[in-house]
Amino acid sequence: MNWKPIKKSSDTWNIKPNLPDYHQTYSSFSWEKIRRELDGLPDSKGLNIAHEAVDRHADGLLRDHPAIRWIGSDGTILDFTYARLKEETNRFANVLKQLGIQKGDRVFVLAGRIPELYIAALGTLKNGSVFCPLFSAFGPEPIFQRLSRGNAKLLVTTKPLYKQKVAGLMDRLPQLQNVLLADVDEDMDKTVRSLSEQMTKASKTFTIPPTDPEQMAILHFTSGTTGMPKGAVHVHNAVLTHYMTGKYVMDFHPGDVFWCTADPGWVTGTSYGIIAPLVHGVTNIIDETDFDAKRWYEILENQKVNIWYTAPTAIRRLMRMEFEPRREYDLSHLRLIHSVGEPLNPEAVVWGQKKLGLPIHDNWWQTETGGIMIANFASVDIRPGSMGFPLPGIEAAIVRRVNNDKVEVVKDPEVQGDLALRAGWPSMFREYLHDEERYRKCFVAGWYITGDLARRDADGYFWFIGRADDIIKTSGHMVGPFEVESTLMEHPAVAEAGVIGIPNPMIGELVKAFVTLKPKIEADEKLRLDIMGFARKKLGSAVAPKEIEFQDNLPKTRSGKIMRRLLKARELGLPEGDISTLETS
Ligand code: ATP
Ligand code: MG
Repeated sequence: MNWKPIKKSSDTWNIKPNLPDYHQTYSSFSWEKIRRELDGLPDSKGLNIAHEAVDRHADGLLRDHPAIRWIGSDGTILDFTYARLKEETNRFANVLKQLGIQKGDRVFVLAGRIPELYIAALGTLKNGSVFCPLFSAFGPEPIFQRLSRGNAKLLVTTKPLYKQKVAGLMDRLPQLQNVLLADVDEDMDKTVRSLSEQMTKASKTFTIPPTDPEQMAILHFTSGTTGMPKGAVHVHNAVLTHYMTGKYVMDFHPGDVFWCTADPGWVTGTSYGIIAPLVHGVTNIIDETDFDAKRWYEILENQKVNIWYTAPTAIRRLMRMEFEPRREYDLSHLRLIHSVGEPLNPEAVVWGQKKLGLPIHDNWWQTETGGIMIANFASVDIRPGSMGFPLPGIEAAIVRRVNNDKVEVVKDPEVQGDLALRAGWPSMFREYLHDEERYRKCFVAGWYITGDLARRDADGYFWFIGRADDIIKTSGHMVGPFEVESTLMEHPAVAEAGVIGIPNPMIGELVKAFVTLKPKIEADEKLRLDIMGFARKKLGSAVAPKEIEFQDNLPKTRSGKIMRRLLKARELGLPEGDISTLETS
């Protein structure tokens, strides 16, 4: 468990990072300075995400620079320059306007990663309407729930998705008057029309109306890892966080090629799969297909990707495979690799160093925070297993709730407690849709309580312990599943692990691990005992799992998070709760 730090020094940089000295930038940071690095709408008419992401570049030096490079599942490559993206998003904004979609109205997109999704997202923001992305793999009921809770006025989708999943819901969605299909040339009826026909008719010029930075911009549903997904509301001012984190974490430099593998159905795919790279004027790679190791390595090589943002679940899948990426592919353009979504086990951080030539930089945030809050930076030593330091402009702390109105900030290092953020950063969610009380309860004495538990070490690194809901209380110990899972994954036969607590009259809760094995490894009693002994030796008998069960796959959300609550419900024979985000394929 003693992972050596990964040292960073100026001779390991091939480009000077935007944040060469973390502590210096942190202490001199101001949001006003960040705001001044952005444009704002002409004539002081406010701040609009789409203007910062598209128009200001299209009207400037980057007009002919590729903004989006889209790679279709059949290998087709489409480039959208900033100028073209401006025209297309203008057209979409005009389509909305003509259909009577107004400021604040919700525009949903249910589609795979097709270019129209990105055009609709940015065009919606231009019109002052609210963009709400949905995973295309959702079934009809989760789609209905979100369209109806979100009061959808317009939906962009494709014909097959409409027919299979939406047509049967239309009677129950009276407010949904417009459906635009991205893949048909002719209207089906008065409500269900061809997007391309509307786009052709629409003008390619559009003036973004005045946009209050506090105006609602994006409605994003959480991943549903711990329960019913919540609708988090974000405003245009969030672009300050997107820009700031793009600068300091992603470390965007002019001419960079960036690839975020996340789908916009998950907040990472919107904040970093659309907004942050475009705001920085870099080239944003979008791959239409889902995980495919060979294709992914080819994309990294062929597109000369400089900065790559992916997730622990994908990294662990790559680790299980027998590729020797550095030998088989030219990854020499890669400068930084980032990961988010789940705790990143130290072994994965170091695997990156060994097999890809770069360590993996873990960062932490949530749908609610709108952007990265705690991160490992290009210039800062990595302690494998740690989430890193809070971003400049972000005050993070470990707190203890005293009562409903009071928290105590834990000053001592190495003390476990609630991870909290000082409320008020630009991309902080402004409400939970239709759930004012729940929103209010997240804030205590000026702190946003994240629902995650963590600790801070003496040097200021934050370490994730677990979600408050997942913490296991066993024989007087508080056990975070991450620690146990990380240790299990250090066993040579283990690919992935999910750890839960099972109620037990003697010890409170009993630690149980569900384990998936690496390919070609047989599950048998001897191996089970071996893993059990391995964990006991590393963790001690109080924390090590008392039970281990082999499974072919662990239940995960579509964004790749292990659904421990589902492991637990299944184990205990309890109702499964909301499983709308469960990955089924
Ligand atoms: P729900 O709130 O609906 O249960 P969710 O919390 O999984 O779903 P997201 O907002 O997508 O929805 O995920 C944020 C959560 O993911 C964080 O609160 C944290 O628990 C986990 N997470 C994200 N990044 C990291 C990370 N780097 N290390 C550990 N955990 C992480
Ligand atoms: Mg959450």
